[in-house]
Amino acid sequence: MSNSFKTFLKHTAKDFHNQSVNPPIVRASTIIFKSMQDIRKTQDKAKKNPTGGHFDYGRQGTSTTHILQQILSKLEESYFTFLTPTGFGAVFLAIFSVTRPGDEIIAADPVYSPTRLLTQDFLKEFNIKTTFYDPHDLKTLEKAITTKTKLIFVENPGSNTFDFQDLGKIVSIAKKHKILTAIDNTWGTPYFLKPIKLGFDMAIVSATKYYSGHSDVMGGSLAVNKKVFPKVKATERVTGLRLGPDDAYLITRGLRTLDVRLDRHRENAKKVAEFLSKFKNIKLLYPYKKDSYNFRMWKKYYSGASGLMGLRIKAKSEKAVVKFVNNLKLFGHGYSWGGFESLALHQNVREQGNRSYLKLAKNEYIVRLHIGLEDPADLIADIKQALKSLK
Ligand SMILES: *Cc1c(COP(=O)(O)O)cnc(C)c1O
Repeated sequence: MSNSFKTFLKHTAKDFHNQSVNPPIVRASTIIFKSMQDIRKTQDKAKKNPTGGHFDYGRQGTSTTHILQQILSKLEESYFTFLTPTGFGAVFLAIFSVTRPGDEIIAADPVYSPTRLLTQDFLKEFNIKTTFYDPHDLKTLEKAITTKTKLIFVENPGSNTFDFQDLGKIVSIAKKHKILTAIDNTWGTPYFLKPIKLGFDMAIVSATKYYSGHSDVMGGSLAVNKKVFPKVKATERVTGLRLGPDDAYLITRGLRTLDVRLDRHRENAKKVAEFLSKFKNIKLLYPYKKDSYNFRMWKKYYSGASGLMGLRIKAKSEKAVVKFVNNLKLFGHGYSWGGFESLALHQNVREQGNRSYLKLAKNEYIVRLHIGLEDPADLIADIKQALKSLK
């Protein structure tokens, strides 16, 4: 198919001639067959073609989830894409599919904090050890490699601090040592970065964020190459991680406008970044300033930037920073992001105590902004009035 992905996203229901333009929501536990022979036939087909959408029970999915898997595999340019009930479910599935007691994991220092909890603490109880590397010094990654290393887990950019890493270099280090790789690509989505094409074995996206785009559903996707597919398939089977058809329908609906929304998030975020770049007490954690390492690493691998950014603010007290966040009127205060609306949070990275390499001065604080689809002039005016609280 030669149509661009923008066209494909609008025409994913083409197979349903003489039917509604949207796919039906098929809800099922039991799937009925005419005979035992028919059941066996379907099971044989599923064995021969495990990505083909041959189901004999609802836990394996229905046509509604299968359509979403096909759309995402096309977007990711992956062999297959697994769906999970949350984004974190996809992180869990990726890690559990390829590690066993005695193995070691090397993970980026600024991974999403539940990912840190899972690797650093929970898996330790199963004799799986994790070490963390400095996202801006890959020597720390190479040094951590042992004969037991099974997986390198990357998140790009890093949560809260938005460190962009040399992804190609990470893949080549992993290949040299025959180590599997996974990346959490929730920030950019495969619209801006295609990790499987870059050589990663697994790519995670929280569908809760930009895929859905409307803050009304949770879900996750795990795109894989052919090599790890059997391992993930086998693990999925025994974990029962499954996205329901109603959630899959909402995510498919969101995906039709993924490109339109992300292009606008990017435009709006760029305008906000331009405004914020003039303040001496604020360091932008966003690929905006051309002379930075983060910008170069972003430019090297991404075709665009999304609407999530960090501000590293020098302030006289935490109280002043919290006041700044509270005084934002057009930004909601709440977790998650990737929906149509703007959000703001003071991120207490220091208190989370889960960074080995982050050096934050005593008077530095991190605020996370999600730049939504509102009029950017209104957002900038709002930030401008709230910034007075920092004085
Ligand atoms: C939100 C998020 C997740 C988890 O997704 P949920 O759908 O909330 O479970 C994982 N990774 C990153 C980078 C995220 O921002």
